[in-house]
Amino acid sequence: MKIEFRKIPYTKSDFNIADDLLICEGTFFKESNRIVAVDMTLCGQTMVDCDICGDTFSLSIDEKQKFKVYDGLSEVEDLDMIECQDHMVDFDEIVHSEISSIKSDYHYCDKCKNEKQE
Ligand SMILES: [Zn+2]
Repeated sequence: MKIEFRKIPYTKSDFNIADDLLICEGTFFKESNRIVAVDMTLCGQTMVDCDICGDTFSLSIDEKQKFKVYDGLSEVEDLDMIECQDHMVDFDEIVHSEISSIKSDYHYCDKCKNEKQE
């Protein structure tokens, strides 16, 4: 889902994106002329690899995230700020980058987690 920046309303709207076993639900609104605020919850399951034994297992995700999307290049350094270069807010892209950042974290399967505790 892509929405042109200037078409985003100042009142809150809902969005809903499903990616495989993950569902992302949230709201967005234009906070100012060049900033769109996005509030989302990502929940469901995704497959990740254990960083110890390499086994693939299903990870439960339940994450809340807030973002600001800036139209153009922002002068302010802000980690939660996403710059959009083509005047389009790409919600799929935002959700996918969030999923890949979760996947790139360290994950341990139950077996390795138990062994670490013993
Ligand atoms: Zn493991």
